Amino acid sequence: MKRILTTARNGTNAVFGRRPRCSTSESKSRERQRLVILGSGWGGYSLMKNIDQRKFSVVVVSPRNHFLFTPLLASTTVGTLEFRSIIEPVRYGRKFRDERDFHLAEAERLDLEEKTVWCRSMLDESNRYAIRYDKLVIAVGALSNTFGVPGVREHAFFLKELVDAKAIRNRIISNFELAVQPGVTPCRVKQLLHFVIVGGGPTGVEFGAELYDFISQDMSRLFPMEVNDVRVSLIEASQILSGFDEKLRKFAEKKIQQREKMELVKGTVSEVHRDTIILQDRSEIPCGLVVWAAGLAPRSFVLSLGVPKNKQQQLLVDQSLRLKADPMGSVFALGDCSCVEENPMPPTAQVAERQGRYLAKSLSQYSDATHSPPMHFKSVGMLAYVGDYQAVAELPQFKFGGFHSWLLWRSAYLTRLGNWRLRLQVPIDWFKTFFYGRDVSQF
Ligand code: FAD
Ligand code: MG
Repeated sequence: MKRILTTARNGTNAVFGRRPRCSTSESKSRERQRLVILGSGWGGYSLMKNIDQRKFSVVVVSPRNHFLFTPLLASTTVGTLEFRSIIEPVRYGRKFRDERDFHLAEAERLDLEEKTVWCRSMLDESNRYAIRYDKLVIAVGALSNTFGVPGVREHAFFLKELVDAKAIRNRIISNFELAVQPGVTPCRVKQLLHFVIVGGGPTGVEFGAELYDFISQDMSRLFPMEVNDVRVSLIEASQILSGFDEKLRKFAEKKIQQREKMELVKGTVSEVHRDTIILQDRSEIPCGLVVWAAGLAPRSFVLSLGVPKNKQQQLLVDQSLRLKADPMGSVFALGDCSCVEENPMPPTAQVAERQGRYLAKSLSQYSDATHSPPMHFKSVGMLAYVGDYQAVAELPQFKFGGFHSWLLWRSAYLTRLGNWRLRLQVPIDWFKTFFYGRDVSQF
């Protein structure tokens, strides 16, 4: 049967869609170019907030309808912060002129010649449709890299999205609750309360720091007997916080090793099972939680694109963020899913956010970005929390670790939060945690 495609008001070609209505707003939006943004993360959201809507009619496609402030995600895994304190609904702040310009969907396929992106609804899998674009920006981010290690997908927890943080929080609390139930052997208690983190990058280290705070400040009070059996292992093949200066790395290492219940394990994980992990030297480690924070891998949408990519399968773009495969300047890519071949930048929120702002400006000024000046990136610095009110800070002017860095870490992120609701909510959560402890309800 021939499928009938109709063009809906928001530019989609919906299969058996309603007859399009023609309105003044439609004719106005026709005058503007249609900019389709894939993703509502650091890159996509920053572009969305900064683009000149008088010049572009913006359509956003993303499997989540919020922006997530990832630097504080680890804090939600143990309840230092609450989940809704670090997200911002994309519909806030009049970013869309038409409510139908946001699609809770994921991009599946791209036709560069037809200037069409095919999407699948996140709410109804059978609903697949095409969206035409004048300009397309791919900002779909990346996945956690399993490095093909068997069992990771099935048994380990990732730390990328809010649902991951919620799952980790529930697992930690469940393990403590199970440890106090009758009939649970001491050996099983030890296994349940051994928490393993794989990957010593900022995500792994910060999660370890939050977990350590949770155990020492809350669980030691609520589970005074069981806490003696708690162990946290941070497994890293080379060195932790490898992007940081050596002095700061040593500072963080020392802090972690000083902790009675925490240890740094040098090794590589070769298998993950339900209740154990196996290292490359075949040693078996029983554990009750594995959090996998070991590098980035491409999303299936990026893999599906037959365009030039680097070894890590990131989309190659030029210094104006135009896809190398599309030098006409209709398709751009930014953030973790892309790589500027001439000037590679680290896969960080800082980079993605700046690229989003840069692209918003260059598209507004130069339309096809063909003549836009190349993007220059200078890092404003790096911060990582290491637990117990201590952090490491590497700034262009100085590098230091300790309590002052922690104060800087907190104030820096507080000022970076996108709106006043979050800037109010986050300190309230910090205050509640400090005075009343973390909430250990499981739901
Ligand atoms: P993301 O922010 O991941 O956004 C990708 C978006 O694309 C999401 O909305 C996603 O839902 C959407 N998407 C996925 N697939 C599709 C599809 N098929 N179609 C449409 N949309 C899709 N960086 C720092 O600079 N400082 C930090 O302190 C820091 N801490 C971090 C802590 C954690 C726990 C994590 C996970 C990351 C941290 N990062 C930090 C890294 C930073 O979050 C990333 O570099 C940044 O998110 C990259 O931005 P992005 O826009 O490329 O991707
Ligand atoms: Mg993005």
